[in-house]
Amino acid sequence: MAESWGNWSGSLRFSPGRIEEPRDEDAVAKLVGRAAAAGQTVRVAGAGHSSTPLVETDGILVSLRKLQGVVTHDLERHEATIRAGMTLHDAGRALLDRGLALPNLGDVDVQTVAGAIATGTHGTGVTFPNLATILIGGRLVAANGGVVAFSLEDDPDLVRAARVSLGALGVLTEMRLRLAPAYQLRRREWCAHIDDCLAHFNELAGANRNVDFYWYPRRDEAKIRTMSRPEDAVADLPFARLIEDETDWSNEIIAQTRDLKFDEMEYVLPAETGLSCFQEVRTRVKARWRSTVGWRVLYRTVAPDDAYLSPSHCRASVTISLHQNSGLPFWDYFRDIEPIFLAHGGRPHWAKKHTLRAEQLRPRYPLWDRFLDTRRRLDPDGVFLTPYLRDLLGVC
Ligand SMILES: Cc1cc2nc3c(=O)[nH]c(=O)nc-3n(C[C@H](O)[C@H](O)[C@H](O)COP(=O)(O)OP(=O)(O)OC[C@H]3O[C@@H](n4cnc5c(N)ncnc54)[C@H](O)[C@@H]3O)c2cc1C
Repeated sequence: MAESWGNWSGSLRFSPGRIEEPRDEDAVAKLVGRAAAAGQTVRVAGAGHSSTPLVETDGILVSLRKLQGVVTHDLERHEATIRAGMTLHDAGRALLDRGLALPNLGDVDVQTVAGAIATGTHGTGVTFPNLATILIGGRLVAANGGVVAFSLEDDPDLVRAARVSLGALGVLTEMRLRLAPAYQLRRREWCAHIDDCLAHFNELAGANRNVDFYWYPRRDEAKIRTMSRPEDAVADLPFARLIEDETDWSNEIIAQTRDLKFDEMEYVLPAETGLSCFQEVRTRVKARWRSTVGWRVLYRTVAPDDAYLSPSHCRASVTISLHQNSGLPFWDYFRDIEPIFLAHGGRPHWAKKHTLRAEQLRPRYPLWDRFLDTRRRLDPDGVFLTPYLRDLLGVC
């Protein structure tokens, strides 16, 4: 047994058979080939920020932390190819040095780019799809130890599968990314009563590049975050109090630092039901959970995309996430709210707590079987599958 491995929040811990840190793609290919021949399972871990057991295995756990750096970049086409061990933070800095930037980011940037892509990690903004959509090609070590070079031009179906792959297709070693020219953002944070925030939310989401809000159940207040390009004249919020105003490069301004650990359930909902779903969640939280759960509820928007397993597959979406301090019980709270998300057509964030398995997930994803076909083609013997992933995907 290797040393034990735990995720960021501490809610998952397991002992893989072995932890490997290959130096390069060749070493990844050799280790996957040997594992396949020996009938062992391989899972890749990024920065360990997922709180579903996506990387849990009693086989080989692979870290790509030695695969770093930008391989090539093209300033005119706004593209770059990076190695798969890079975090969003390091990639953001390296790309800025080359005049490029990730088009959007989520709440933090400590995850690996590969891990964020594999789970459909998203930020906020009605015109911004999740981060997986920036993947337009790359190199993947498949279950036979062979390297598959793929691109949107040559194999769009593989790209649609690889964008949200849960690590079930193979090990990404390099990723070709569609980026933006480096840009600055002005971030403002506002406090308002939640009723005012909800009444103006759609208008704000249309007027600003990115908008989200945290609802604080005990005070019934919202902290609203608006981000826009510094050159854009965006109106003040007459119903809110400005508490922060900062402008910097996008990679410095979007992500936050999270020292206080938490567990989270997040559902991705059709945009048109978002606010009514939020109101139901709000009513339930106030009625049952306000005294035991001090944490806030986060509301964001995500544009549609066409990745087979993207939670915002083919629909404009909003996301609602519940938080609880790590170490405190969270399942009773999350299980009580989850049926509200499901009744509104929600799809769970792959990396956050949820209770769904293949039989409930498959009807929510119109191209579910296309993903499974691609998975079977690349990994017929299930080298990258674990009992959890078999249940999740419905693979015997
Ligand atoms: C504090 C915090 C803030 C967060 N904020 C957001 C947010 O704002 N928005 C959001 O949507 N999510 C958010 N998340 C969720 C987070 O983005 C996801 O859990 C993400 O997958 C974590 O990336 P990771 O590098 O830690 O990968 P891991 O959690 O270690 O792995 C995730 C998946 O990626 C696969 N994977 C990793 N590397 C590779 C590779 N090279 N090839 C193939 N598969 C690979 C793994 O096998 C696994 O299936 C947050 C989580 C935390 C703890």
